Amino acid sequence: MAKYKFKCADIGMNCSFVASEKNRDDLMVKIADHAKHAHQIEEITPELKGKVDSAIKKSMF
Ligand SMILES: [Zn+2]
Repeated sequence: MAKYKFKCADIGMNCSFVASEKNRDDLMVKIADHAKHAHQIEEITPELKGKVDSAIKKSMF
C-alpha cells in the first residue's frame, strides 16, 4: 500500500517531526496541525504549501 510521507526537516525546519498517511489530504491536515502547534504557523501560505508539496514523498512501504 502506498503511503505519503513528510519530514519537517525537508522544508528547512530544525525539527524531527515526521508523518505518514495513506491519504495525501489527511497528511496535509496533520502537517497544518503540527505547523500550528510546533511552529506557531497559523496559516499555510501558498509559498509554504508549495514547499510542503514538494517535500511530500510517495512511498510503497
Ligand atoms: Zn516541525
